[in-house]
Amino acid sequence: MTNAGKKAVRDEARADAMDGDPIIRRGLMLILSSPSGAGKTTLTRDLLSDRALDLTLSISVTTRARRSSEVHGIHYNFVTKDDFLKLRDRDDLLEWAEVHGNFYGTPREPVDKVLSAGRDMLFDIDYQGTQQVLQKASGDAVTIFILPPSMKELKSRLERRAEDAPDVIAKRLDNARNEISRWPMYDYVIVNEDIQRALHEVTAIVVAERLKRTRSEASISRFVQGLLEE
Ligand code: 5GP
Repeated sequence: MTNAGKKAVRDEARADAMDGDPIIRRGLMLILSSPSGAGKTTLTRDLLSDRALDLTLSISVTTRARRSSEVHGIHYNFVTKDDFLKLRDRDDLLEWAEVHGNFYGTPREPVDKVLSAGRDMLFDIDYQGTQQVLQKASGDAVTIFILPPSMKELKSRLERRAEDAPDVIAKRLDNARNEISRWPMYDYVIVNEDIQRALHEVTAIVVAERLKRTRSEASISRFVQGLLEE
């Protein structure tokens, strides 16, 4: 390599380093799935409030009615069935599924933007959506399944939430057994007995996955080249 070439490599490695990390990589898709009531909403909220983790939530579109605690544009984008079908038919959704009798889907555009900027995105989606993402982008996805400590606890969490009607709770409990049986599809499985511990475990997964050689091979190679030329 010419001296000018070597300098260009060093400059590029330095520019990466100035962003805070000498290694640059594509963002990862952190997928969390669980049956309703396993504590995933709390876990998601706590993960997002950890500034150091710097995760961006993928905001799904849904035809489900808004719960009183939910805000349009923050928890979901609530849409009519007609609008949902239009988005789906225009191929604007990365994945979509019918869950508990409602439609849910992930808008494609924000995902492309966040990942290509090297930032990581958090997805709260079910196993059907996870399957579709794995078919399209398995290299970018890290999948985590959250289990409740017991069925009794799952039921009491659903009832404590008190935001859904009794028939909705019954339907969700019915579906929970089917959802739980999907755990073998996932990279990691966490039993959410204690929220702090589960949070610590998910954080550890994110930190380790970010350091995977295969996510940033070209950038490590440039960095090492610079190191060896010092
Ligand atoms: P909830 O109605 O309790 O907010 O969500 C019900 C289920 O739908 C949860 O298991 C959640 O993970 C799933 N879900 C939420 N958004 C999406 C989405 O965009 N795609 C898919 N496939 N599932 C979703």
